[in-house]
Amino acid sequence: MDSSFDDPDYDYAASMAGRAMRCMAEQRIAPTPTNFAVWFQYFAGSHDDLRNAIDLLIDHNRPFDVRTNQDLFRTYVAPQVSAAAIDTSERLHTLMGAAKEFLATAIADNHSQMQAISKVADQGKAGVDPKALVAQLMNELARAATRATRLEAGFAEKTRELDVIRDSLSRSEERARTDTLTGLANRRALDEFLRKAQATAEWGEPLSVLMLDIDHFKTFNDNFGHGVGDQVLRLMAEVLRDKVREQDLSARYGGEELIAVLPDANLAACAEIAERIRRAIADCKITRRSIGEVLPNISVSIGVAQYRAGEAMSDLIERCDRALYLAKGGGRNRVVTENELDRAIAAG
Ligand code: GH3
Ligand code: MG
Ligand code: MG
Repeated sequence: MDSSFDDPDYDYAASMAGRAMRCMAEQRIAPTPTNFAVWFQYFAGSHDDLRNAIDLLIDHNRPFDVRTNQDLFRTYVAPQVSAAAIDTSERLHTLMGAAKEFLATAIADNHSQMQAISKVADQGKAGVDPKALVAQLMNELARAATRATRLEAGFAEKTRELDVIRDSLSRSEERARTDTLTGLANRRALDEFLRKAQATAEWGEPLSVLMLDIDHFKTFNDNFGHGVGDQVLRLMAEVLRDKVREQDLSARYGGEELIAVLPDANLAACAEIAERIRRAIADCKITRRSIGEVLPNISVSIGVAQYRAGEAMSDLIERCDRALYLAKGGGRNRVVTENELDRAIAAG
Protein backbone atom coordinates (compact mmCIF):
# COMPACT_ATOMS: atom_id res chain seq x y z
CA MET A 1 0.00 0.00 0.00
CA ASP A 2 1.30 3.46 -0.90
CA SER A 3 0.44 6.39 1.25
CA SER A 4 1.37 10.04 1.40
CA PHE A 5 0.14 13.01 3.34
CA ASP A 6 0.30 16.77 3.13
CA ASP A 7 -2.41 18.66 4.95
CA PRO A 8 -2.27 22.44 5.65
CA ASP A 9 -4.93 22.19 8.40
CA TYR A 10 -2.87 19.53 10.02
CA ASP A 11 0.34 21.61 9.78
CA TYR A 12 -1.41 24.61 11.34
CA ALA A 13 -2.88 22.55 14.21
CA ALA A 14 0.47 20.82 14.78
CA SER A 15 2.29 24.13 14.96
CA MET A 16 -0.29 25.56 17.41
CA ALA A 17 -0.04 22.39 19.50
CA GLY A 18 3.76 22.80 19.51
CA ARG A 19 3.46 26.40 20.71
CA ALA A 20 1.01 25.36 23.42
CA MET A 21 3.31 22.58 24.64
CA ARG A 22 6.37 24.87 24.65
CA CYS A 23 4.51 27.56 26.55
CA MET A 24 3.24 24.99 29.07
CA ALA A 25 6.76 23.64 29.54
CA GLU A 26 8.10 27.17 30.12
CA GLN A 27 5.47 27.85 32.77
CA ARG A 28 5.87 24.36 34.23
CA ILE A 29 2.23 23.50 33.58
CA ALA A 30 1.56 19.75 33.74
CA PRO A 31 0.73 18.38 30.24
CA THR A 32 -2.67 16.95 31.17
CA PRO A 33 -5.50 16.81 28.59
CA THR A 34 -7.47 19.61 30.26
CA ASN A 35 -4.44 21.90 30.64
CA PHE A 36 -3.52 21.23 27.04
CA ALA A 37 -7.06 22.04 25.91
CA VAL A 38 -6.78 25.43 27.63
CA TRP A 39 -3.43 26.32 26.08
CA PHE A 40 -4.24 24.93 22.66
CA GLN A 41 -7.37 27.11 22.64
CA TYR A 42 -5.25 30.07 23.74
CA PHE A 43 -3.06 29.75 20.66
CA ALA A 44 -5.38 28.24 18.07
CA GLY A 45 -8.89 29.12 19.17
CA SER A 46 -10.95 32.19 18.39
CA HIS A 47 -11.93 32.50 22.01
CA ASP A 48 -11.41 36.15 22.98
CA ASP A 49 -12.58 35.72 26.59
CA LEU A 50 -10.07 32.96 27.27
CA ARG A 51 -7.32 34.97 25.58
CA ASN A 52 -8.11 38.07 27.65
CA ALA A 53 -8.29 36.07 30.88
CA ILE A 54 -4.89 34.49 30.27
CA ASP A 55 -3.29 37.75 29.12
CA LEU A 56 -4.57 39.40 32.29
CA LEU A 57 -3.06 36.65 34.44
CA ILE A 58 0.26 37.01 32.61
CA ASP A 59 0.18 40.81 33.03
CA HIS A 60 -0.34 40.33 36.75
CA ASN A 61 2.39 37.70 36.99
CA ARG A 62 -0.04 35.15 38.35
CA PRO A 63 1.29 31.55 38.40
CA PHE A 64 -0.60 28.98 36.32
CA ASP A 65 -1.06 26.49 39.12
CA VAL A 66 -3.39 23.45 39.02
CA ARG A 67 -6.31 25.45 40.40
CA THR A 68 -5.95 28.34 37.93
CA ASN A 69 -5.78 25.96 34.97
CA GLN A 70 -8.81 24.04 36.19
CA ASP A 71 -10.73 27.29 36.56
CA LEU A 72 -9.76 28.35 33.05
CA PHE A 73 -10.87 24.99 31.67
CA ARG A 74 -14.17 24.99 33.53
CA THR A 75 -14.98 28.60 32.70
CA TYR A 76 -13.91 28.89 29.08
CA VAL A 77 -13.26 25.50 27.46
CA ALA A 78 -15.78 23.04 28.94
CA PRO A 79 -18.83 25.22 28.14
CA GLN A 80 -17.73 25.32 24.48
CA VAL A 81 -17.58 21.53 24.36
CA SER A 82 -21.07 21.13 25.71
CA ALA A 83 -22.47 24.06 23.71
CA ALA A 84 -23.13 21.82 20.70
CA ALA A 85 -25.25 19.45 22.79
CA ILE A 86 -27.16 22.33 24.41
CA ASP A 87 -27.75 23.90 21.00
CA THR A 88 -29.29 20.67 19.69
CA SER A 89 -31.54 20.23 22.69
CA GLU A 90 -32.66 23.88 22.53
CA ARG A 91 -33.47 23.54 18.84
CA LEU A 92 -35.43 20.40 19.55
CA HIS A 93 -37.34 22.11 22.34
CA THR A 94 -38.22 25.09 20.10
CA LEU A 95 -39.30 22.80 17.30
CA MET A 96 -41.51 20.74 19.61
CA GLY A 97 -43.22 23.95 20.77
CA ALA A 98 -43.75 25.10 17.18
CA ALA A 99 -45.06 21.67 16.15
CA LYS A 100 -47.52 21.64 19.05
CA GLU A 101 -48.82 25.09 18.13
CA PHE A 102 -49.03 24.09 14.50
CA LEU A 103 -51.09 21.00 15.36
CA ALA A 104 -53.44 22.98 17.63
CA THR A 105 -54.08 25.50 14.80
CA ALA A 106 -54.61 22.66 12.32
CA ILE A 107 -57.16 20.98 14.61
CA ALA A 108 -59.02 24.28 15.23
CA ASP A 109 -59.01 25.02 11.48
CA ASN A 110 -60.38 21.60 10.74
CA HIS A 111 -63.09 22.01 13.34
CA SER A 112 -64.31 25.36 11.92
CA GLN A 113 -64.19 23.86 8.44
CA MET A 114 -66.41 20.98 9.53
CA GLN A 115 -68.83 23.43 11.15
CA ALA A 116 -69.03 25.51 7.96
CA ILE A 117 -69.76 22.44 5.85
CA SER A 118 -72.38 21.11 8.24
CA LYS A 119 -74.06 24.57 8.25
CA VAL A 120 -74.34 24.40 4.46
CA ALA A 121 -75.75 20.89 4.75
CA ASP A 122 -78.37 22.12 7.28
CA GLN A 123 -79.49 24.76 4.81
CA GLY A 124 -80.18 21.87 2.39
CA LYS A 125 -82.69 20.43 4.89
CA ALA A 126 -84.27 23.90 5.22
CA GLY A 127 -85.18 23.85 1.52
CA VAL A 128 -82.65 26.40 0.19
CA ASP A 129 -82.19 26.59 -3.60
CA PRO A 130 -80.15 23.47 -4.57
CA LYS A 131 -78.06 25.43 -7.11
CA ALA A 132 -76.98 27.98 -4.50
CA LEU A 133 -76.35 25.13 -2.05
CA VAL A 134 -74.04 23.33 -4.48
CA ALA A 135 -72.13 26.56 -5.15
CA GLN A 136 -71.69 27.17 -1.40
CA LEU A 137 -70.62 23.60 -0.80
CA MET A 138 -68.05 23.79 -3.61
CA ASN A 139 -66.77 27.04 -2.16
CA GLU A 140 -66.28 25.46 1.29
CA LEU A 141 -64.63 22.37 -0.21
CA ALA A 142 -62.20 24.56 -2.20
CA ARG A 143 -61.27 26.38 1.02
CA ALA A 144 -60.81 23.03 2.75
CA ALA A 145 -58.52 21.86 -0.06
CA THR A 146 -56.38 25.02 0.23
CA ARG A 147 -56.06 24.50 3.97
CA ALA A 148 -55.15 20.86 3.49
CA THR A 149 -52.37 21.84 1.07
CA ARG A 150 -51.08 24.42 3.55
CA LEU A 151 -51.21 21.83 6.32
CA GLU A 152 -49.29 19.33 4.23
CA ALA A 153 -46.58 21.89 3.45
CA GLY A 154 -46.37 22.76 7.16
CA PHE A 155 -46.00 19.11 8.12
CA ALA A 156 -43.33 18.58 5.47
CA GLU A 157 -41.36 21.55 6.79
CA LYS A 158 -41.53 20.32 10.39
CA THR A 159 -40.44 16.85 9.25
CA ARG A 160 -37.44 18.33 7.44
CA GLU A 161 -36.43 20.27 10.56
CA LEU A 162 -36.75 17.11 12.64
CA ASP A 163 -34.55 15.25 10.14
CA VAL A 164 -31.85 17.90 10.54
CA ILE A 165 -31.97 17.60 14.33
CA ARG A 166 -31.93 13.80 14.20
CA ASP A 167 -28.85 13.87 11.93
CA SER A 168 -27.08 16.32 14.17
CA LEU A 169 -27.86 14.19 17.25
CA SER A 170 -26.59 11.03 15.63
CA ARG A 171 -23.44 12.87 14.49
CA SER A 172 -22.67 14.06 18.01
CA GLU A 173 -23.38 10.58 19.37
CA GLU A 174 -20.96 9.20 16.79
CA ARG A 175 -18.33 11.77 17.81
CA ALA A 176 -18.65 10.75 21.46
CA ARG A 177 -17.77 7.17 20.50
CA THR A 178 -14.94 7.93 18.10
CA ASP A 179 -11.26 8.54 18.68
CA THR A 180 -10.50 11.90 17.08
CA LEU A 181 -6.97 11.09 15.88
CA THR A 182 -7.59 7.74 14.21
CA GLY A 183 -11.33 7.76 13.57
CA LEU A 184 -11.52 4.32 15.22
CA ALA A 185 -13.86 3.52 18.09
CA ASN A 186 -12.69 4.95 21.41
CA ARG A 187 -12.43 3.16 24.76
CA ARG A 188 -16.04 3.90 25.65
CA ALA A 189 -17.34 2.34 22.43
CA LEU A 190 -14.91 -0.56 22.87
CA ASP A 191 -16.17 -1.32 26.38
CA GLU A 192 -19.76 -1.27 25.17
CA PHE A 193 -18.97 -3.54 22.24
CA LEU A 194 -17.09 -5.97 24.50
CA ARG A 195 -20.02 -6.12 26.93
CA LYS A 196 -22.43 -7.02 24.15
CA ALA A 197 -19.99 -9.45 22.52
CA GLN A 198 -19.45 -11.18 25.87
CA ALA A 199 -23.16 -11.90 26.19
CA THR A 200 -23.17 -13.68 22.82
CA ALA A 201 -19.91 -15.47 23.63
CA GLU A 202 -21.47 -16.85 26.81
CA TRP A 203 -23.99 -18.66 24.57
CA GLY A 204 -21.09 -20.52 22.99
CA GLU A 205 -20.08 -18.36 20.01
CA PRO A 206 -16.30 -17.87 19.76
CA LEU A 207 -14.93 -14.38 20.43
CA SER A 208 -11.35 -13.29 19.88
CA VAL A 209 -9.32 -10.12 20.18
CA LEU A 210 -6.09 -8.91 18.68
CA MET A 211 -3.96 -6.14 20.09
CA LEU A 212 -1.43 -4.31 18.00
CA ASP A 213 1.46 -2.10 19.09
CA ILE A 214 3.77 -0.21 16.74
CA ASP A 215 7.39 -1.31 16.98
CA HIS A 216 9.98 1.23 18.11
CA PHE A 217 7.50 4.03 17.70
CA LYS A 218 9.25 6.27 20.17
CA THR A 219 12.37 6.23 18.00
CA PHE A 220 10.23 6.95 14.95
CA ASN A 221 8.70 9.98 16.69
CA ASP A 222 12.12 11.13 17.81
CA ASN A 223 13.45 10.91 14.26
CA PHE A 224 10.53 12.31 12.30
CA GLY A 225 8.47 14.28 14.80
CA HIS A 226 5.26 13.55 16.63
CA GLY A 227 3.18 14.99 13.79
CA VAL A 228 4.48 12.48 11.28
CA GLY A 229 4.06 9.82 13.98
CA ASP A 230 0.39 10.76 14.26
CA GLN A 231 -0.06 10.37 10.52
CA VAL A 232 1.51 6.93 10.69
CA LEU A 233 -0.82 6.02 13.51
CA ARG A 234 -3.76 7.07 11.32
CA LEU A 235 -2.45 4.89 8.55
CA MET A 236 -2.16 1.88 10.89
CA ALA A 237 -5.75 2.47 11.93
CA GLU A 238 -6.81 2.50 8.29
CA VAL A 239 -5.10 -0.82 7.62
CA LEU A 240 -6.67 -2.36 10.71
CA ARG A 241 -10.15 -1.17 9.76
CA ASP A 242 -9.64 -2.37 6.24
CA LYS A 243 -8.56 -5.88 7.23
CA VAL A 244 -11.20 -6.76 9.81
CA ARG A 245 -14.71 -7.81 8.88
CA GLU A 246 -17.85 -5.70 8.87
CA GLN A 247 -19.08 -7.17 12.17
CA ASP A 248 -15.77 -6.61 13.99
CA LEU A 249 -14.85 -3.55 15.99
CA SER A 250 -11.51 -1.80 15.64
CA ALA A 251 -10.62 0.66 18.37
CA ARG A 252 -7.78 2.73 19.76
CA TYR A 253 -6.85 1.09 23.03
CA GLY A 254 -4.13 3.47 24.18
CA GLY A 255 -1.47 5.77 22.73
CA GLU A 256 -0.20 3.67 19.82
CA GLU A 257 -1.97 0.48 20.76
CA LEU A 258 -4.92 -0.54 18.63
CA ILE A 259 -7.30 -3.40 19.24
CA ALA A 260 -9.81 -5.37 17.19
CA VAL A 261 -12.62 -7.46 18.64
CA LEU A 262 -13.77 -10.30 16.42
CA PRO A 263 -17.05 -11.92 17.38
CA ASP A 264 -17.64 -15.32 15.86
CA ALA A 265 -13.89 -15.89 15.24
CA ASN A 266 -11.79 -18.49 17.02
CA LEU A 267 -8.11 -18.11 17.87
CA ALA A 268 -6.89 -19.51 14.53
CA ALA A 269 -9.19 -17.28 12.45
CA CYS A 270 -8.22 -14.22 14.47
CA ALA A 271 -4.50 -15.07 14.17
CA GLU A 272 -4.91 -15.34 10.41
CA ILE A 273 -6.44 -11.87 10.21
CA ALA A 274 -3.72 -10.55 12.55
CA GLU A 275 -1.07 -11.97 10.24
CA ARG A 276 -2.71 -10.26 7.24
CA ILE A 277 -2.66 -6.95 9.15
CA ARG A 278 0.98 -7.42 10.15
CA ARG A 279 2.01 -8.16 6.58
CA ALA A 280 0.01 -5.27 5.09
CA ILE A 281 1.67 -2.84 7.51
CA ALA A 282 5.14 -4.23 6.91
CA ASP A 283 4.54 -3.78 3.16
CA CYS A 284 3.37 -0.16 3.49
CA LYS A 285 5.56 2.30 1.57
CA ILE A 286 5.13 5.60 3.36
CA THR A 287 6.22 8.84 1.71
CA ARG A 288 5.96 12.46 2.76
CA ARG A 289 4.78 14.13 -0.41
CA SER A 290 5.79 17.62 0.74
CA ILE A 291 9.48 16.76 0.71
CA GLY A 292 9.38 13.55 -1.31
CA GLU A 293 10.96 11.66 1.57
CA VAL A 294 10.43 7.92 1.79
CA LEU A 295 10.09 6.93 5.44
CA PRO A 296 11.52 3.70 6.83
CA ASN A 297 9.19 0.72 6.96
CA ILE A 298 6.98 0.44 10.01
CA SER A 299 6.22 -2.85 11.68
CA VAL A 300 3.81 -3.91 14.37
CA SER A 301 3.66 -6.71 16.92
CA ILE A 302 0.31 -8.34 17.55
CA GLY A 303 -1.06 -10.46 20.40
CA VAL A 304 -4.12 -12.68 19.90
CA ALA A 305 -6.40 -14.30 22.50
CA GLN A 306 -9.77 -16.04 22.60
CA TYR A 307 -12.48 -15.55 25.21
CA ARG A 308 -12.97 -18.32 27.77
CA ALA A 309 -16.52 -18.74 29.04
CA GLY A 310 -17.09 -17.14 32.41
CA GLU A 311 -13.98 -15.00 32.49
CA ALA A 312 -13.97 -11.21 32.82
CA MET A 313 -13.27 -9.21 29.70
CA SER A 314 -10.29 -7.68 31.48
CA ASP A 315 -8.76 -11.19 31.74
CA LEU A 316 -9.12 -11.67 27.99
CA ILE A 317 -7.48 -8.32 27.26
CA GLU A 318 -4.71 -9.03 29.73
CA ARG A 319 -3.94 -12.38 28.08
CA CYS A 320 -3.89 -10.67 24.70
CA ASP A 321 -1.53 -8.04 26.09
CA ARG A 322 0.78 -10.75 27.43
CA ALA A 323 0.85 -12.41 24.00
CA LEU A 324 1.72 -9.02 22.51
CA TYR A 325 4.50 -8.63 25.05
CA LEU A 326 5.83 -12.04 24.01
CA ALA A 327 5.78 -10.90 20.36
CA LYS A 328 7.90 -7.90 21.34
CA GLY A 329 10.31 -10.11 23.25
CA GLY A 330 10.50 -12.53 20.33
CA GLY A 331 11.90 -9.85 18.03
CA ARG A 332 8.81 -7.75 17.06
CA ASN A 333 7.08 -7.64 13.65
CA ARG A 334 5.22 -10.85 14.51
CA VAL A 335 1.91 -12.30 15.65
CA VAL A 336 1.80 -14.34 18.86
CA THR A 337 -1.26 -16.18 20.14
CA GLU A 338 -2.10 -17.09 23.69
CA ASN A 339 -1.16 -20.72 22.89
CA GLU A 340 2.44 -19.63 22.80
CA LEU A 341 2.02 -18.11 26.24
CA ASP A 342 1.26 -21.56 27.61
CA ARG A 343 4.28 -22.98 25.80
CA ALA A 344 6.49 -20.17 27.11
CA ILE A 345 5.31 -20.90 30.66
CA ALA A 346 5.89 -24.67 30.20
CA ALA A 347 9.40 -23.97 28.90
CA GLY A 348 10.02 -21.90 32.03
P1 GH3 B 1 8.09 -1.10 21.28
O1 GH3 B 1 6.63 -0.96 21.30
O2 GH3 B 1 8.61 -1.70 20.04
O3 GH3 B 1 8.61 -1.83 22.49
O4 GH3 B 1 8.77 0.34 21.33
P2 GH3 B 1 8.03 1.72 21.40
O5 GH3 B 1 9.04 2.79 21.24
O6 GH3 B 1 6.91 1.74 20.43
O7 GH3 B 1 7.54 1.70 22.87
P3 GH3 B 1 6.08 1.91 23.39
O8 GH3 B 1 5.13 0.98 22.77
O9 GH3 B 1 6.16 1.94 24.87
O10 GH3 B 1 5.88 3.34 22.76
C1 GH3 B 1 5.12 4.31 23.16
C2 GH3 B 1 5.50 5.47 22.26
O11 GH3 B 1 4.44 5.69 21.35
C3 GH3 B 1 5.67 6.70 23.06
C4 GH3 B 1 5.15 7.76 22.18
O12 GH3 B 1 6.27 8.40 21.61
C5 GH3 B 1 4.38 7.05 21.09
N1 GH3 B 1 2.99 7.46 21.06
C6 GH3 B 1 1.98 7.10 21.89
N2 GH3 B 1 0.83 7.72 21.53
C7 GH3 B 1 1.12 8.48 20.45
C8 GH3 B 1 0.35 9.34 19.62
O13 GH3 B 1 -0.85 9.55 19.79
N3 GH3 B 1 1.01 9.93 18.59
C9 GH3 B 1 2.33 9.73 18.36
N4 GH3 B 1 2.90 10.33 17.33
N5 GH3 B 1 3.06 8.93 19.12
C10 GH3 B 1 2.49 8.32 20.15
MG1 MG C 1 2.91 0.91 23.32
MG1 MG D 1 5.24 0.50 20.58
